[in-house]
Amino acid sequence: LFARQATFMLGCAKIEQLPEPDLPEIAFAGRSNVGKSSLINALVGMKGLARASNEPGRTREVNFFDLDGKLRLVDLPGYGWAKASKGEVKRFQNLGRDYLRGRVTLKRVYLLIDARHGLKAVDTEALDALDLAAVSYQIVLTKADKLKKGEGERMREATLKAVSKRPAAFPEVALTSSEDGDGIPELRAAIMTATGV
Ligand code: GDP
Repeated sequence: LFARQATFMLGCAKIEQLPEPDLPEIAFAGRSNVGKSSLINALVGMKGLARASNEPGRTREVNFFDLDGKLRLVDLPGYGWAKASKGEVKRFQNLGRDYLRGRVTLKRVYLLIDARHGLKAVDTEALDALDLAAVSYQIVLTKADKLKKGEGERMREATLKAVSKRPAAFPEVALTSSEDGDGIPELRAAIMTATGV
């Protein structure tokens, strides 16, 4: 079992509100609607933990989830939200960046990419920011169930190739479906290895 008890800890809209960095953390990032909340829920095995919704405005804070008092999952604000104003976009970009730069307990970032679409320009910007912050990150392809057999593997290989020269990229790409659970146990195992939990 990944966690006996998973609880929502807090949502931070400002850098000053971040909790003390006293536990290992794993963060999740990606475009709005990529399936971030669904993936967090699937990993933890709790349907209602992270809010899965089609309203991207709900995920504009940095949300912290505590797993058994041993590990924290951190849900970063979704990016690429078309309806947000420029000021809003700037505000949550800054928050994400400040979090990434100064977090000593952050073990890895999982950057979620829709397996049907692959890397887009906004994702490349996020990769640049992660490389600049020198935070270890791994790409997770989501919604694999929406692809035909073989397409997922092809996308996995293409994505791996696209990030192979990036300094902070972990040399594996995960292929997951929160819908049917494919790739979820493997991702849990990778998180445990990355955090030593
Ligand atoms: P978030 O905005 O990144 O947190 O995305 P959500 O988790 O709220 O998911 C956005 C939409 O994609 C919702 O309608 C989900 O039901 C759907 N979705 C998420 N993960 C999957 C998946 O693995 N397979 C399929 N088919 N749909 C998914």
